[in-house]
Amino acid sequence: MKILVLNSGSSSLKCCLYEIGETLPSAVPKALWEWAVDWTHRAGLAEITLKTAHGAALKSETTAQTQTEVMGYMLEQLCQGETQAIAQLSEIDVVGHRVVHGGTQYRESERVTAEVKQAIADLACFAPLHNPINLEGIETIEQILGDVPQVAVFDTAFHRQIPLAATVYPGPYAWYEQGIQRYGFHGISHQYCAERAAQLLERPLDDLRLIVCHLGNGCSVSAIRHGHSVDTTMGFTPLEGLMMGTRSGSVDPGILIYLLRQAGYSPDQLEDILNRKSGLKGISGLSADMRQITEAAAAGNSRAQLAFDLFIHRLRASIGAVLLSLDRLDALIFTAGIGENSALVRAAACDALDVWGIKLDSQLNDASPVDQDIAHAESRSRVLVIHTQEDWAIAQDCWRILSPGSIGAVER
Ligand code: ADP
Repeated sequence: MKILVLNSGSSSLKCCLYEIGETLPSAVPKALWEWAVDWTHRAGLAEITLKTAHGAALKSETTAQTQTEVMGYMLEQLCQGETQAIAQLSEIDVVGHRVVHGGTQYRESERVTAEVKQAIADLACFAPLHNPINLEGIETIEQILGDVPQVAVFDTAFHRQIPLAATVYPGPYAWYEQGIQRYGFHGISHQYCAERAAQLLERPLDDLRLIVCHLGNGCSVSAIRHGHSVDTTMGFTPLEGLMMGTRSGSVDPGILIYLLRQAGYSPDQLEDILNRKSGLKGISGLSADMRQITEAAAAGNSRAQLAFDLFIHRLRASIGAVLLSLDRLDALIFTAGIGENSALVRAAACDALDVWGIKLDSQLNDASPVDQDIAHAESRSRVLVIHTQEDWAIAQDCWRILSPGSIGAVER
């Protein structure tokens, strides 16, 4: 089965093609073809990177501003020239989409129907930067590939079994009735890491108690018991919780009332500040990139040091908070750009966990681990670094749903 996976964000589009045979492989196979478009580096230009399993590569730029414009070009490259991976588009059996918000309706991946599309559109009020783009991706595929089966894999689905006490905000109960509740995000990554941890630890997922720290541009921590998320730091929107690259994470809501009332801010200005001018970038005044923050801090830049210290303080506090939703901890997992690559962040986070008997092996931590246990032999819990593979997780759900004998929806 040839599976095209689309992962579209507000300023990037990633796409890859996998082929899965009659059984799911236990190791992640190499994608036949990978494509990435990034609109963030140069104003008015999108940078395109393309590579194939056979080593062909292409780097180019386009003035195309929407994913619909870019996707037509992208699908042409899939079938022709040096970067060709298939003879014709009709070879694609299914297209899987990462959809950010599935609301309360979807606790599993779903085959796209008119009803699913309507639900994604209706939920755009909760995820205005993401759901409309996700829907545009689905509709563009319909225009280009006709009635090829499509599957929506929701970032909120993995958190749908979080108990009510961790779901409802302590405002008026009417909020909850209006859908103002904690949804949680990054679920595809948290779930993938939990499943991979079970493989690495050679234990059934159902028996494990895990904490996953997804630390990328967006950051969230989740606690996992019996293979389900039981608490997570992101809430109604992906703004809650940890400090992030440009997002503030949780702040006292009184600050927002103060700024609206006393400083004359508009809702749009607040949204811009909280999403794009806060976090590592806002505090350091330098960069949202942890590499630049740690370099500048090491060179004596005090605001970069403060940004790093704040990031760690909040990460430790969140690990501590979700830990109390578990009755023990089998493994603490670090994933995504910062979690996978920053030995400094992992060491600083784990420093505070000594009190619970969780200890890193500093040599293993410093040796660029991938899908590896980096805990000290005497540590009470394992500490794993896992390379998150959201696209592969989406491809697997497509395979499960489309394989003969499936019933159209899947709970992993
Ligand atoms: P996204 O959330 O957009 O998928 P990633 O998971 O790729 O992002 O994470 C991107 C972030 O990872 C970068 O902004 C940077 O802060 C961080 N990062 C990447 N490589 C390193 C590294 N070697 N050391 C520290 N941080 C890194």
